[in-house]
Amino acid sequence: MCSVVGIYGNENASKLCFYSLFSMQHRGQEAAGISSSDGKHIKTLKNRGLVTQIFKEEHFKILKGDMAIGHTRYSTAGNDSILDAQPVFARYGLGEISIVHNGNLVNAKEIRNELTKKGAIFQTNMDTENIIHLIAKDYTKNTLKERIIDAVKKIKGAFSLIILSRSKMFAIRDPFGFRPLSLGKLKSGGYIVASETCAFDLVGAEFIRDIKPGEMVIFEHNKIKSEMIFEPNLKQCIFEYIYFARPDSQVFGKNVYHMRKEMGKELAKELPVNADMVVPVPDSGVAAALGYSQQSGIPFEMAIMRNHYVGRTFIEPTQEIRDLKVKMKLSPIKYKIKGKKLVVIDDSIVRGTTSRRIVRMLREAGAKEVHMRIASPATIDPCYYGVDTPTKEELIASKMSIEKICEYIEADSLAYLSINGIIKAIKDKKENYCFACFDGNYPIL
Ligand code: AMP
Repeated sequence: MCSVVGIYGNENASKLCFYSLFSMQHRGQEAAGISSSDGKHIKTLKNRGLVTQIFKEEHFKILKGDMAIGHTRYSTAGNDSILDAQPVFARYGLGEISIVHNGNLVNAKEIRNELTKKGAIFQTNMDTENIIHLIAKDYTKNTLKERIIDAVKKIKGAFSLIILSRSKMFAIRDPFGFRPLSLGKLKSGGYIVASETCAFDLVGAEFIRDIKPGEMVIFEHNKIKSEMIFEPNLKQCIFEYIYFARPDSQVFGKNVYHMRKEMGKELAKELPVNADMVVPVPDSGVAAALGYSQQSGIPFEMAIMRNHYVGRTFIEPTQEIRDLKVKMKLSPIKYKIKGKKLVVIDDSIVRGTTSRRIVRMLREAGAKEVHMRIASPATIDPCYYGVDTPTKEELIASKMSIEKICEYIEADSLAYLSINGIIKAIKDKKENYCFACFDGNYPIL
């Protein structure tokens, strides 16, 4: 997963990008970057690391102009080298261009092979670079807008894109609307486009609306214009609600915190447990656990502490480091747990490492019973649209039954929320969402 932001028509464009990226750091911690345009040239600065580690005050003197785009990276396509950080910048026939992309393209290999056969030279491993090449090579069209339309009609998959030229900005969302992208108006002047509305709250912007699936919004001459370039076929990523987005964001028109709490309530209705307390796995299980507690009447206790100075465990490459990081990250409040029957709530199980470690930790702390309840269905298939799920073989629920997973994580019981439970929680039509990681129905391959 990644985050993207674009600022148009504000003299502090690159600084506002920086703050927006800071608020969306949860969507990717590997690398970050900003490109800005002063009307004559585009300048880009990107590096590995967190947003606050990369950007220093003096950089904003270089990143001049009233237009800027930014990105935080969570590697899904490409690798973790600095070359694979975004924005992707290029000089081409019509001038200068820079692109940021959230999502994954499913036909990236085919396009790259075709382009390479025709002599294209690639500098990165990212699918995003394909888009720049398609735009640059489309010499039959004389305007950037036409070239962008041609390019995005060739790519397939998930893309929430922001493209910066020297004088314009374009925001595009794929017809499925897999990844969020919202439009806002800055109180200090100009417009903002961002993956999540939590960025708007930080930089002082009012939410206008979501960029529609299949829509291209063009920022030019201090105005915005909209054009539908694809017939929409809504398949928004349900995992944004379950895990990815920040609870204070409005995603796909709904508040994420509220959705998670409602999922917790459905979980309590579907899968009740006779327990003394509801304990969330912090932070990902907190909102659902609160919902579970309110629905069931079982008291909510923050009986597991999280050390916030440790990153997400999932991101680390080897099993040994992942195990260690779970211990570093979570620790039980023994005083609360001793002799108690617990219902422990988390948002999802991927490899099973976290749950197994948590159950052990709670037993060592004296828990009498540990019942795991997961506020999403079992993750059985990988995501090809931008969520960094491992291969099918690594997904514990793709090779083990729920009973076997329960044994593996050493819990007294384990149960997952059903897809129907999620639908009830979000009060929306199932066909508007992509559930591929839970049911293997891929909208596009
Ligand atoms: P695991 O130990 O592999 O079962 O990981 C499960 C934990 O990772 C859960 O607590 C989730 O909150 C979190 N998680 C789920 N999906 C992702 C993802 N795509 N990236 C990072 N963390 C995730």
